Amino acid sequence: MEVFYNSTRSTGTPVKASEAILKGLSDDGGLFVPDHIPALDKSLKELSAMNYQEVAYEVMKLYLTDFTEEELKNCINRAYDSKFDTEVIAPMVEAEGAYYLELFHGSTIAFKDMALSILPHLMITSARKNHIKNEIVILTATSGDTGKAALAGFAGVEGTRIIVFYPKNGVSPIQEKQMVTQKGDNTLVVGIHGNFDDAQTGVKMIFSDKELAKEMDEKGFQFSSANSINIGRLVPQICYYVYAYAQLLAEEKITDGEVINVVVPTGNFGNILAAFYAKNMGVPIGKLICASNDNKVLYDFFSTGTYDRNREFMLTTSPSMDILISSNLERLIYRIAGNDAAKNAELMAALSGQGKYEITDDMKAQLVDFYGNYANETETAEEIKRLYNNCGYVLDTHTSVASAVYQKYVAETGDNAKTVIASTASPFKFTRSVMNAIDAKYDAMSDFELVDELSKIANVKVPNAIEEIRTAPVLHDKQCDVDKMKDTVKGFLNM
Ligand SMILES: *Cc1c(COP(=O)(O)O)cnc(C)c1O
Repeated sequence: MEVFYNSTRSTGTPVKASEAILKGLSDDGGLFVPDHIPALDKSLKELSAMNYQEVAYEVMKLYLTDFTEEELKNCINRAYDSKFDTEVIAPMVEAEGAYYLELFHGSTIAFKDMALSILPHLMITSARKNHIKNEIVILTATSGDTGKAALAGFAGVEGTRIIVFYPKNGVSPIQEKQMVTQKGDNTLVVGIHGNFDDAQTGVKMIFSDKELAKEMDEKGFQFSSANSINIGRLVPQICYYVYAYAQLLAEEKITDGEVINVVVPTGNFGNILAAFYAKNMGVPIGKLICASNDNKVLYDFFSTGTYDRNREFMLTTSPSMDILISSNLERLIYRIAGNDAAKNAELMAALSGQGKYEITDDMKAQLVDFYGNYANETETAEEIKRLYNNCGYVLDTHTSVASAVYQKYVAETGDNAKTVIASTASPFKFTRSVMNAIDAKYDAMSDFELVDELSKIANVKVPNAIEEIRTAPVLHDKQCDVDKMKDTVKGFLNM
């Protein structure tokens, strides 16, 4: 059955998957959502005999229904290849009885690679299918990890350009070095004088600038988005939850149909929404545990039903979760409002106007599958140290937030269901915070000394992504104020 995509903010004509991927964001500022969540048409048992690429095909074919089998398999095979440093693509590590699903084995060692290694292929396939002649300009706001993963995905891809805005003082030194050393004539990296929300708001404004879009079209360009608002990011993320369940089944860690819980360190709400979709496709997932850092706007939302971004923005050691406006939550809000675009649009208008909105009791009752909690900076550091001391496994700061929240969940509920914790970044990406958490003595070392030390104590080889930037020259040093983002874009396109 064909799946069409609707905007969360109006009831216009539904579009095909390829059109939704090309546009990124709907013209009315809404996000594209599938008109129904398709059910898996293979049993979990059948899926448990498949490799990652095969599972990915079985999941994605149900959403991207206007792609041919050949087109989709092509995209999958180009994405999930030797760019990943493990053949299984998404391995699971058991530590203290929980299963850490390592999603960081791609080229930039963060889970964003899972989607961003395939998005460029989905995008150029979509352009071809829709007879697009314009060059596609990818515009991205990043809290650190999306930027590099998108750059790595799109660099050198013919018919595309990519522009990345990041908060100049809001990413880790290694994240920044990864981005500013990016090669490729079609890439631009800009540090903005503001935080991630400023970057994201700026990008959304440029996207919805109709006059600019017209000017771009005349010059042979059109925008698209690599942010997690693009359905082409969300769909590939569903695959690894299906795969994780199938693998647990294959390894006889669970029985067929056994209910598991999933914990996700959350920022923009994309990753956990993918787990929610997997559940609704038929994967036996019980609780979706949403873990936040000190920017605990989602925890407050799940406990009170009020989403309120009016608060201080905190810089934490898990910068990819330093977010006060979780864009993908809009897809869930739309759904629990009964796919009511008008109701959702009203709430989103309140969010951009007063910075907050409140959902009805009826909507709140539909959130029973979610559990929200948060870990502060001390708890996050202690969890890294605790797990390392207990079993020698080293978590990155984001995964540690999830792991600490999981401990709270078990203590609070006594729920001992088997649990998959999404491990979203390699500890090598946040070496200083990770090493300081293990022992304060490491603070005196330089960033790359810490890398070598971490490799030693964790008994893990230094990932290629880190080896590469040790000596790489800085190729991008552009900075701009938030109100100059549009001019910066035009400059890069010679407009
Ligand atoms: C992006 C990111 C997150 C947050 O994921 P969302 O899909 O935005 O909720 C968590 N951890 C890491 C390491 C990330 O890069």
